[in-house]
Amino acid sequence: MLCTMKAIQVQRAGGPEVLELTNLPKPSPGAGQVLIRVEAAGLNFADILYVAGEYLVRTRYPTVPGMEFAGVVEAMGDGVEGLYIGQRVAALGGSGAFAEYAVVQARSVLPVPTPMSAAEAAAFPVSYFTAYFALQTQAQAKPGEWVLVQAAAGALGTASIQIAAALGLRVVALASSEEKLALCRSLGADVALLNTQDNLVDAVRQATEGRGVDILMEVVGGAGFAQSLKMLAYRGRLLVIGSASREMAQMYPVSLMKGNQSVMGVWLTPFLSDPAEMQAATSFLMPLLTSGRVRPVVGERFKLEQAAEAFRFVLSRKNTGKVILEP
Ligand code: NDP
Repeated sequence: MLCTMKAIQVQRAGGPEVLELTNLPKPSPGAGQVLIRVEAAGLNFADILYVAGEYLVRTRYPTVPGMEFAGVVEAMGDGVEGLYIGQRVAALGGSGAFAEYAVVQARSVLPVPTPMSAAEAAAFPVSYFTAYFALQTQAQAKPGEWVLVQAAAGALGTASIQIAAALGLRVVALASSEEKLALCRSLGADVALLNTQDNLVDAVRQATEGRGVDILMEVVGGAGFAQSLKMLAYRGRLLVIGSASREMAQMYPVSLMKGNQSVMGVWLTPFLSDPAEMQAATSFLMPLLTSGRVRPVVGERFKLEQAAEAFRFVLSRKNTGKVILEP
């Protein structure tokens, strides 16, 4: 008997209209792999770019998108150690999470802290590891420094506010509505500003005693990039993490000299295959999550078959925290 599962499949590059609910063979784990019954999958902005063929890795169609999820271990391939059938886990990396079952490498599996729901567990891997690698590993943040978080009420944004607070940083949060700003304040942002307001650069400088921010998490790109550079303090670090505007940004590198400033890239994927960096990040993040000091913000929840609606929801900038798909 052929075992099948429901999955969201994509045959060609496009927007939400190319997401198709289909039946596919249930995968089985090879050596070093784990089969997980998916209970909840996180929808990341990167999934939208991946489906559109605009992501940092080339999309090979047909594909099942989805790069993070939580669920229960159902089977393990040869050589897998330290996991057991029935264990609640989260996983990240690659694609295939928008389905009833997914196979991942055992090294991409994380235990789920007991108090976390499946939706919370699906919401943490991408956003919290990225926030940690951005602030700690790349920017080498020091307690007391100011960090500006763009799209601060979103999935990465809400994680970044919490991780920044845990690192002893002071946070300026930017978002596009008063409701979003209220959420940012409730998570620990010291200052929360509408990203649509006039004189945003002046407002950020005023909020930081005239200095500007030491670290800026740039996730929008496009025309706003030049404005971001103007918000940096002396020796400030601008982290290029995303480009939600999907527009090219321009900069004049010479402009960095006067303030001894830096612009650096941050991408989660290469860190995932660096055991030492993953160990450092996991040791920092897990106690925060287990103790409940840091709690993923779960936004709207959609059924797997509503994937297109979920994509449209994120594209319309309505989400707060992480949008979740549930098979
Ligand atoms: P979010 O939940 O933050 O959703 C995107 C948010 O971006 C929107 O809610 C909106 O916030 C803001 N935004 C600004 N301009 C636009 C636009 N033109 N269209 C849509 N949204 C816009 O998504 P994620 O947390 O998944 O990702 C946020 C960013 O971080 C993305 O650029 C993503 O690619 C990047 N990222 C990068 C990673 C890496 O490894 N480098 C890992 C994870 C995320 P508002 O309305 O408040 O302005």
